[in-house]
Amino acid sequence: SQKVLTIGEILVEIVATTKGNGFLEIQPFIGPFPSGAPAIFIDQVGKLGTPCAMISRVGDDDFGRLNLNRLAADHVDISGIVMAKGETTGSAFIRYREDGSRKFVFNIANSACGKLEENSEIEQLLQQCRHLHLMGTALSSPGLNKMALKAIQAIKSHGGTVSFDPNLRAEMMTPTLHADLDAVLAQTDLFLPSGDELFLFTRAKDEHTAINELLNRGIREIVLKRGHQGASYFAEGKRFDVAAHSVTELDPTGAGDSFGGAFVSFWLNGSSPQEALYYANIAGARAVTFLGPMEGTSTRVELEQFLNVAK
Ligand code: ATP
Repeated sequence: SQKVLTIGEILVEIVATTKGNGFLEIQPFIGPFPSGAPAIFIDQVGKLGTPCAMISRVGDDDFGRLNLNRLAADHVDISGIVMAKGETTGSAFIRYREDGSRKFVFNIANSACGKLEENSEIEQLLQQCRHLHLMGTALSSPGLNKMALKAIQAIKSHGGTVSFDPNLRAEMMTPTLHADLDAVLAQTDLFLPSGDELFLFTRAKDEHTAINELLNRGIREIVLKRGHQGASYFAEGKRFDVAAHSVTELDPTGAGDSFGGAFVSFWLNGSSPQEALYYANIAGARAVTFLGPMEGTSTRVELEQFLNVAK
């Protein structure tokens, strides 16, 4: 089947085990957990047995090694991930507040990931892969932006397809980013926004108008993620909805990426949109029942069995 490629950040996440407002007192943590939205996405694709690879850069340290070991164990081709001597892998500390919101401390500004440069392994992956999944963060990072835009051209010139998950918040938007996003959307076959992200891309005020506007711009398929309210699929003249499964949410981080990895995997392997949505919805629900962003990615068997186990 077609090999899936993604590009983007790899980091570790270290999670406070007590709830509260921040990091101003000594407290217990759990981690490091492998993380980075594109890394979680591609780990989910690999676990489903779809050939896949990631382009990234980590430091030559334990945090980098932890991630590479996990991805390789889950069948992700890591030949395009550079391990940079003397540099560090990014990290994020997270503490949940009582209301479910999160406080982050990121150590990524000078991490190895920001200095991605082309090499022969990366060049080979750009020739080999037939599907590219991009996230907004790859465009907003100066170190990744050029590679991301180049990868779209490479994949498209070989007749491949592109999926795009914006993973952006309004406060991250700049005029340059807007221009790049428009360029990416023009090449996107499958668009996977969540909730309000839809409105970062159109001037429409309601969902129906926004979806139609995007379909009219040439995006063939749109999957809208709605968190604990499920998800919807849209294409010209078609719409399917799924309600979310009722589960005990332990850690919402990574649900959207697991959902996306499952959807893209089934979509590329010839499933109908309904079937891809069905499995993606399970993947998202299962992901939130695990502590740690990448800990809840699923094999096919785990997806099949989850609904029985969850009841
Ligand atoms: P993130 O960026 O935090 O990974 P996202 O906003 O991209 O997430 P969500 O909409 O939160 O994505 O989640 C993706 C999918 O996972 C949902 O559409 C749904 O199918 C499933 N999901 C998420 N949260 C829950 C939940 N609490 N219960 C059941 N299913 C959920």
